[in-house]
Order: sequence, then C-alpha cells, then structure tokens
Amino acid sequence: MDRKEFLKTMGLLPLLGCAKKSNELNKLNEKLPATEKLPALFLGHGSPMNAIEENDFVRGFRSIGLGIERPKAILCISAHWETNGTYVTAMENPKTIHDFGGFPKELFDVQYPAPGNSALAIETQAMIKSTNIQLDQNWGLDHGAWSVIKHLYPAADIPVIQMSLDYSKPPSYHYELAKELSVLRSRGILIIGSGNMVHNLGMIAWDKMHLPGYGYEWANEASDQMKKYISQKNHLNLINYTNQGKAWKLAIPSPEHYLPLLYILALQEENDHPEFFNDTAVAGSLTMTSVKIG
Ligand code: ZN
Repeated sequence: MDRKEFLKTMGLLPLLGCAKKSNELNKLNEKLPATEKLPALFLGHGSPMNAIEENDFVRGFRSIGLGIERPKAILCISAHWETNGTYVTAMENPKTIHDFGGFPKELFDVQYPAPGNSALAIETQAMIKSTNIQLDQNWGLDHGAWSVIKHLYPAADIPVIQMSLDYSKPPSYHYELAKELSVLRSRGILIIGSGNMVHNLGMIAWDKMHLPGYGYEWANEASDQMKKYISQKNHLNLINYTNQGKAWKLAIPSPEHYLPLLYILALQEENDHPEFFNDTAVAGSLTMTSVKIG
C-alpha cells in the first residue's frame, strides 16, 4: 500500500491538502515575527501588602493580565534590584525574595514559584550591544516583580527573568538600553517595568493611608505633568526629570522607582498609544499610576 492509498483507507486524504497549506504557512511564519507584538507594561506596585490584599489595584492588574495575549515569558525591570552594571537573572528556578521588613507573616509566606528562562537571559545578553550584560545566578524574584506579576499570572506558570537597574548610570542610559529590547515584544516576551512614578516614602501621610486617592498637591502636580508628557510622547522631558521643578524633586527623591517607567516608554512605537490604569494617589506621596503601551 502506498502512502496515498493508506491515507485514503484511513479517510485522511482530504487533509493532505490542508497539511500542505499548513506547511506553506509555517514557512511564511518563519519570515514574520514569531508572535503578535505584545504590549509593554509599567506597573505601580506600591505597598508589598498589595500582594495579598484584595483591592482596586489588584483588580486592575488582573484585568490587564486578562486583556493580553498569553506571553511565552516575562522580562521584568524592578525598582528593587539595583546593581553596579546591568545583570539578567539566568537561574532555572528563581527564589521568591521577601525584600522588606515589618509586614505580617502571611506576606513572608507568599511563594511565587515561576520558572526562570536561561535561554531568554542568554538571548537578552546577546541582543544588547551598547553595554556588557552579565548573567546572574544569585538574585531571584524580588517583591517589585512577584507582588504584581502574581496578580497577572496567579498560576506562576510563565517563566520570569529580571533585569537589574545599573545605579551608576544616568536616565538616558536606561532609556537607550530599553530600546535594544524592543524586538522581544514580537517574540512573545512581556516586558514589565515595576516601580512607582511618584514615590516619596519619607513623606507618607500615615494618617491618610485609608483615604482613597489622597495625594499631596505636589504629588498630584507631578503626576499630572508626567501623564501629560507620556500622552504627548514627550519622552525627553521624562528622561530629564531632574530639571522639571520642585514638585518632581519631591515626587522622585531617588531614581529607582521611576526608572522602570523609562524602560517601558522607550519601547513605545509609532502606533502605540499609552493607556493609564490604577491611576490613583495613595497616602499623599505615592501614585499607583500604571501604563500599558501598545
Ligand atoms: Zn517598591
């Protein structure tokens, strides 16, 4: 029995044409980007307690996660991993790091056992030409990453790698470095920046913690201007944040929670429009404002 006859007997002959077409389609796909372009997200993470609380922010993260095509892996730039030089995590099983103090045991009990992806780490290292990216085997997932990613992907079944923030470098370095990651958006990789646009822990209004949306005047002023520049795609002013006046100085007393935003803005392409969510001030001196690009 030849192949054709065999297929006829099995009633599979009509499928042969489909298989041929599908092969042609596969060939075509090789020339096209591997996936639809994924958006990039800046997530305002705020208090680590958001990891275990049920509130509007958590619902905002969840709903954003549901609206995005399922990624193959996540690359996260977190405010809570600063290094001298730029590193990417390359271990197979990143540990859940509880990098905070003074919170209930329930929060320390949280584990987010998402796998790593060493192949993606190596690919990312090779992709970046402007600086020497180093592979890391010691970090894991800090709370800037897991406290928000767990709401997008509660099953922890999507591999996550982190890229560190080089504290020795100016804002423009971070913005330019992020541009080199842009191809990952078309390879099924969801790039997440996790920080807070307005983040001044020293000025937190503890007595206003439970007043929804309470922001100091300077916090609201800086937040409004940031959102205006993001909407206008005026990235230059956002990169030069230290020259934007007094409100911004109070909003960004140190760069680490702000810089992840620059990574996400750098990934914005011609037809990508920013969409804000969780756009609320908390305890006077924080904003949870998050941005979806694309
Ligand atoms: Zn933080």
